[in-house]
Amino acid sequence: MTLHADYDPDNIFAKILKGDMPSVKVFEDEVALAFMDVFPQAEGHTLVIPKQVAARNLLDMPTKKLGAYMERVQAVARAVEKALTPDGVVVTQFNGAPAGQTVFHLHFHVIPRWQDDRLRGHASGKMADIDALEALAQKIRPLVA
Ligand code: 5GP
Repeated sequence: MTLHADYDPDNIFAKILKGDMPSVKVFEDEVALAFMDVFPQAEGHTLVIPKQVAARNLLDMPTKKLGAYMERVQAVARAVEKALTPDGVVVTQFNGAPAGQTVFHLHFHVIPRWQDDRLRGHASGKMADIDALEALAQKIRPLVA
């Protein structure tokens, strides 16, 4: 059901895109917006969402727009890696609630991983300190190319 449903224009990420909800942005152009996840699974957890589409998930995304969007996902992943020098980077995406999706506007997660650092819970736990997210964003922002 959550895999095939109408796009809700009032979902949290749509509100962030409209500027009705705050976010700590790291990148924005006409194709995509990237911002810090407020329930980070690891330090530097960043989300990349497409603009100007009503896509709930990857299956909904107009194929012709996918290439440009994925270029931004890669650019943000590269910037996160350069800024924070993790040992690895998870780039992931969920389609439908049973697959783990909780916000129904397409997004990719960019999650830095360190060798002995355990991954925190998904979309749960304590909300991150906004100043701490801003400090991370300041490191990542200038490196998105
Ligand atoms: P999903 O579960 O749909 O794959 O991922 C949604 C992500 O959005 C989760 O990692 C969750 O922590 C994050 N998230 C939920 N609400 C907000 C919000 O209001 N602002 C930000 N920046 N991230 C959010």
